[in-house]
Amino acid sequence: MVGHVTELGSAVTMLKAGDRVGIGWQGRSCGKCEWCLKGEVQLCDDIDQCGVWRPYGGFSTSVVVDERFAYPLPSGMPSETAAVLMCAGISVYNPISRYASSGDKKVVVIGLGGLGHMAIEFAHMFGNEVTAISSSPSKHEQVLSLGADHFILISDREAMRKVRYSFDVLMYTSHGNTDWTALVNSIATNGSLVVVGFSDFPVTFDPMELVVHQSSMTGSFIANHETMREMLAFAQEHAIRPKVELMPMAEVNTAIQRLKDEHPLQRFVMVN
Ligand SMILES: [Zn+2]
Repeated sequence: MVGHVTELGSAVTMLKAGDRVGIGWQGRSCGKCEWCLKGEVQLCDDIDQCGVWRPYGGFSTSVVVDERFAYPLPSGMPSETAAVLMCAGISVYNPISRYASSGDKKVVVIGLGGLGHMAIEFAHMFGNEVTAISSSPSKHEQVLSLGADHFILISDREAMRKVRYSFDVLMYTSHGNTDWTALVNSIATNGSLVVVGFSDFPVTFDPMELVVHQSSMTGSFIANHETMREMLAFAQEHAIRPKVELMPMAEVNTAIQRLKDEHPLQRFVMVN
């Protein structure tokens, strides 16, 4: 969510009234657990409490937030851009900056929705060779315009066979069912498959390929404060622009229905 600071608590030192800030999925952290003390606040042991908005969430006209989780935004950045970066953007920026910041990797993005299209933009801007894999042929032209170098339909057996053992980093952003064996077989030696989407289906594959190619399967969850600030600066410097459709908050139910029906590449941003 994006908004302006209207009131300050007595302990606030970094923000002032009128500042425009972006806030992600996480609004606080316990400050006491092992992960908070290490600065990895997104891994807080009490994340159930710290990632849930009380009393009001982002669809309301105001929220209360720990100032460390309200990030000042670059002045030239459109608010609808920032709104998408604060969740979908950071979710994919964090693993891409960890595994593919050198810019010489073969990165593949699986699933082309809100997270996936941002992953293509970030991976491309770091200088990597980017492939998009989808079950939807209609997204071909869109992903090339975002910076993808190649597009593969996952049902195209011949195309999937040609990319065996070729990707250094696989970004799994989908929530649907998929051919996991085909994906695992496309990981290069010492490569990594990073899961950032919540799949609704159990994952099954033959583990032999992981073993003999020393590849990894891992997860990634939002980011710490430092990476969040780094992502905002990188996005501003490289003019990263998520695909956005603005809608008035009064049409929120229409937006939810269209998400279910259309599986769009763009994010709907609700304006309150
Ligand atoms: Zn904690």
